[in-house]
Amino acid sequence: MSTLTVLEPATEAVLAVIPRADAEAADAAVARARAAWPAWREVAPADRGRLLHRIADALAASAEALSVLEARNAGKPITDARSEIGMVIDTFRYYAAAPERHTGETIPVGGGIAMTFREPLGVVALITPWNFPLNIAAWKVAPALAAGNCVVLKPAELTPLTSLELERIALAAGLPEGVLQVLAGPGSTAGTRLVEHPDVAKVAFTGSTTVGRRIAAAASETIKRVTLELGGKSANVIFADADVAAAAAAAPSAVFGNAGQDCCARSRILVQREVLDDFLAQLGEHVRAIRVGDPLDETTVMGPLISAAQRETVASYVPSDAPVAIRGEAPDGPGFWFAPTVLSPVRPDDRAVVEEIFGPVAVIVPFSDEAEAVRLANDTIYGLSGSIWTNDGAKALRVARAMESGNLSINSNSSVRVSTPFGGFKQSGVGRELGPHALESFSEVKTVYYATGATG
Ligand code: NAD
Repeated sequence: MSTLTVLEPATEAVLAVIPRADAEAADAAVARARAAWPAWREVAPADRGRLLHRIADALAASAEALSVLEARNAGKPITDARSEIGMVIDTFRYYAAAPERHTGETIPVGGGIAMTFREPLGVVALITPWNFPLNIAAWKVAPALAAGNCVVLKPAELTPLTSLELERIALAAGLPEGVLQVLAGPGSTAGTRLVEHPDVAKVAFTGSTTVGRRIAAAASETIKRVTLELGGKSANVIFADADVAAAAAAAPSAVFGNAGQDCCARSRILVQREVLDDFLAQLGEHVRAIRVGDPLDETTVMGPLISAAQRETVASYVPSDAPVAIRGEAPDGPGFWFAPTVLSPVRPDDRAVVEEIFGPVAVIVPFSDEAEAVRLANDTIYGLSGSIWTNDGAKALRVARAMESGNLSINSNSSVRVSTPFGGFKQSGVGRELGPHALESFSEVKTVYYATGATG
């Protein structure tokens, strides 16, 4: 049997060796899911909701163990891991209320009654990245199950451990066999097979824009439903009339959180020229104060990168002649460490300004006025997230409406919540997760006309 070796990024030590799922395992999982679906879709909505609550209860009972496992496997600070596992539980609770509220409509037509139903799709494949492993899995699994689908979840091969735990916990909580299966295997084998499989009705993918393009093309062969949550290069726009101290204090976590491996990272910091020097001075103090180190230390703010390959990629954006304006700390020794880094001044065509780095590297881009801020913010193939800092409320809303991005925050860098839709404009993706929108994308509208002989 072939295996997957899972590393701990903070130490480079082996954390686990697990069976590796390839294309044949994907075929078998889809067949089991297909067999489980007729019974699962018939489970009464209230019972499906109760089951999702039981999964949430069981996750809550294991929350600390899951947090430690996530922190070790993904290299994220334990305090971040705890809040992510908290969101996982909240996501199951939110969608536990959904089955009984997944209503249709009646529509007035001549000769009878037209009504709509929200039908489950069948077997859905959920493919997730390594940066927020269980969190992003929950965003997909909970609404998919709530809508009555059977799920095959393929986590990233670097971070499969908490997803495997989710499968175990959900089955122990009473989810029927075959309704949720986790395939720990590579994208190139297990992933591609799920995307090609004729019995998979939908692929919900979170990952890079490059792989997302491939998945969209492959899924078109069988006209699968596809939602794509892809990369980003989000702007943090700071106007001169903002609370500059608050913006400078908040900017580091908005880009160096999760060691910059965050699709919402505000990695382009746009600053109005009048306050540029003041902002940079304050930002420098905050960046140098970031505690980078052991993910299990309660005081750690930033952990390592996920892998040696990721560190090499990130380092390529900071060559020896790069304009490093601010550099924080990073431990020596084993572990895939990279110090938080701010580049300024940068050329507009610098790779670090244009491409998603997915590491702790930010660029500073000065602007003169509102029109230039909007032009620069939108000057990217991406459109996932972003922030606007100003004390002028009308300007904040004007800029928010003008920015081509799916998730924005004003005087804050927080834009992800269980109850609100999340997703990207442009090449950051297709469709929305979370909130009521996710439920819609895991179901299909059916219209039924019932002739009653009535007129009008
Ligand atoms: P990735 O695209 O390399 O891999 C994501 C997943 O896809 C993994 O499970 C991988 O095994 C699988 N995969 C790879 N090739 C595949 C193929 N041909 N067919 C099917 N599956 C395949 O991404 P990553 O490196 O794990 O994650 C980083 C990327 O994810 C970044 O670009 C980041 O911006 C993005 N991301 C986006 C969001 C969002 O919500 N928009 C959230 C987190 C991460």
